[in-house]
Amino acid sequence: MSLDFALSDEQQALGEAIATMTKRFAGRREEFIQMILKEHRFPEELWQALCEVGLLGCLVPEEYGGNGMGLLAMAMGLEQLARRGLGNALLVLGAMDACCIVRCGNEEQKRRLLPRLASGEDKYCFAVTEPNAGSNTFRIETLARKEGATYRLSGEKTFITGADVADRMLLVARTTSAAECEAQGLPKAFGLSLFIVDTKARGIDLKPIPTHGIEGMIQYTVHLDGVEVAQEDLIGEPDQGAMALFNSLNPERILAAASALGMTDYLLERSCEYARGRVLFGQKPIAAYQAIQHPLARIKAQSEAVRLVTYKAAWAFDQGHHPGQVGPFANMAKYLAAEMAVDACDRAIQTHGGYGFSEEYGIIYLWTTARLLRTAPISQEMVLNFIGEHVLELPRSY
Ligand SMILES: Cc1cc2nc3c(=O)[nH]c(=O)nc-3n(C[C@H](O)[C@H](O)[C@H](O)COP(=O)(O)OP(=O)(O)OC[C@H]3O[C@@H](n4cnc5c(N)ncnc54)[C@H](O)[C@@H]3O)c2cc1C
Repeated sequence: MSLDFALSDEQQALGEAIATMTKRFAGRREEFIQMILKEHRFPEELWQALCEVGLLGCLVPEEYGGNGMGLLAMAMGLEQLARRGLGNALLVLGAMDACCIVRCGNEEQKRRLLPRLASGEDKYCFAVTEPNAGSNTFRIETLARKEGATYRLSGEKTFITGADVADRMLLVARTTSAAECEAQGLPKAFGLSLFIVDTKARGIDLKPIPTHGIEGMIQYTVHLDGVEVAQEDLIGEPDQGAMALFNSLNPERILAAASALGMTDYLLERSCEYARGRVLFGQKPIAAYQAIQHPLARIKAQSEAVRLVTYKAAWAFDQGHHPGQVGPFANMAKYLAAEMAVDACDRAIQTHGGYGFSEEYGIIYLWTTARLLRTAPISQEMVLNFIGEHVLELPRSY
């Protein structure tokens, strides 16, 4: 049995590339933050730099234009970015879309789509949520009807992050409606299909939803009115998309956990820095008070444990383990990381006193980002349902 915690040469090289890239932009942090928070725009220059270091190529094999370094490398990369207060939701969404195309797309699709996805030339978002189907994906109603060599998609997706800046979206639709499935006695997982949809296609209408949590990127309701999608853009077999979809959700959870880990480190660093410099009584800074110090130390200890389960989940994915084996670790990592990030943000605000709420220090902006992790990409309740049912083998309650 072997257990090796050392980083590979490739993982170290990626880490160094990210460090060099972030140093290049160090002096422009304020400018970027203003653009993200005030203009709700993610700086294109920064996106290009993130792509140049090869983050989006991690899940794409070299023969299709990626670097094939894998999910663990990507998770470590995202963690490093978040540790410097940076990140971009489309990196996570693009990675899960890449994973879906790599594992379930045909050869032509891989050659056509992956090189531009890996280089960041094509941005990808992901559309599953609908107004009447949030946590329960099987309830989606968006319908894709076959008409000769094309499909016509009609329905409504909601909360779709970055639908305006993305070139394409991986969209989940029904090729057999839930009612048809029921009438024919088919399982509820039957009938889901995955499509790559051009976000500028005729029949698509975007309506922004004012939300917080992913600053620099807007969520949209996406109306689809007879949107034509070529048969070549159906990923995998029609009606059989459920497994492909659930396979791609594990990487999303793992990358969300990695981002939460990095954010936690960032908040701890900011808290320690502030606490060391704040002197109120006598000579000692507030950092010396155990009421300030111990909660931060507890979160630090917790983060090491969360990192292990997150890396284990990513490692299991890279080893090609069955999604049913990756799922428990991916879900546990996401659950623990979300709770920890919320806690870390709460402690950072408390450590900063009133300045925790000031625009100048910017800690308060991270509150919604951390808190969102309890709800999306999957809610903590659904994660616990998964662990209860699939790990502890307890009865399903719904
Ligand atoms: C900022 C933001 C960005 C997002 N980006 C995207 C995106 O890019 N693409 C996309 O497709 N979606 C996106 N979403 C949607 C997100 O994935 C959903 O909001 C989330 O999955 C929850 O679904 P819902 O909002 O419909 O809540 P609901 O499913 O209605 O759930 C409401 C509450 O009930 C609880 N609940 C529901 N069912 C159960 C159950 N069986 N047992 C216990 N508790 C239960 C939930 O945990 C939750 O607390 C985004 C959401 C937000 C807020």
